[in-house]
Amino acid sequence: MDLSIVVPIYNEEENIPVLHSRISEALADTRLAYELILVDDGSADNSYSSLKVLAGKDSRVKVVKLRRNFGQTAAMAAGFDLASGRVVIPMDGDLQNDPLDIPLLLNKIDEGYDVVSGWRKDRKDTFINRKLPSMIANGFISKMTGVHLHDYGCTLKAYRREVLEDVNLYGEMHRFVPALAHQVGARVTEMPVRHHERLHGVSKYGISRTMKVILDLMTVTFLLSYSTKPIQLFGRWGIYTLCAGFLSGALTLYMKFFEHTSMNRNPLLILTAFLIFMGVQFIVMGLLAELVARTYYEAQGKPIYNIKEKVNFG
Ligand code: UDP
Ligand code: MG
Repeated sequence: MDLSIVVPIYNEEENIPVLHSRISEALADTRLAYELILVDDGSADNSYSSLKVLAGKDSRVKVVKLRRNFGQTAAMAAGFDLASGRVVIPMDGDLQNDPLDIPLLLNKIDEGYDVVSGWRKDRKDTFINRKLPSMIANGFISKMTGVHLHDYGCTLKAYRREVLEDVNLYGEMHRFVPALAHQVGARVTEMPVRHHERLHGVSKYGISRTMKVILDLMTVTFLLSYSTKPIQLFGRWGIYTLCAGFLSGALTLYMKFFEHTSMNRNPLLILTAFLIFMGVQFIVMGLLAELVARTYYEAQGKPIYNIKEKVNFG
């Protein structure tokens, strides 16, 4: 199998037949052996029956139905787990992504990249609640993860399947896969792709997505930099805070003995207690996080490294 296309579907009944025919047309001349994995993420409309009709007509179409609406990331993860293609390409079910870009993404993968991220250079969404938050988020994510992409949010991306096997998805994290993949050593690049207005139905998201993305960014940043050594982060801040506490304590004593400011009238005393308390908390939190990290890696038999190739090991 050359290619698995994974599409999350949540209330997209009118889009499904068009999606299928556009994908079939786009891949007709390429002679690729492909499968189209359509994941029904607990749709409340007739999406599922429409998917089953397709699966009956075309054996390349594979359909999965989740028990309830788990969200786009979970739906994509289900598709990734079932994919058997050498390359996996997720895309939206509303035809905002263009199947004609699929062969181009594959070419890019064949140039030797492990991840090719689509960049909706000419994005057809509203500016104020879509493109603007997205621009800011992309800047932030690029800076925090060190993987510079213009458009993390684009669903249309291409992955070598091995890369996805090393990446676990939670929350709204499908957009962070390039950064997570980069951490396990993948070569990541981006490519401009087409983008269209939504064909039928309505968008499943509003401005509230921004908050979710910010919170996930915090998690990802932490996981990327400190998940195997949390005490290095918490402990450092613990020590800074403790030092600041001692400094402010010393100042309180100095003011008592040399400037005759009574300690219990000096607000610095409260600051001292607060800082020392915080410092101890940080350090203890770091130690707890170390325990959690050990459980995480050892329970799953996860190594803290990723091997690309082995020679002469039998
Ligand atoms: N989607 C999903 N589960 C959800 C929300 C969305 O599977 O809970 C799917 C949806 O059907 C579509 C894709 O994710 O195929 C992108 O959603 P949408 O077009 O609403 O997002 P937007 O393009 O507005 O960012
Ligand atoms: Mg859309």
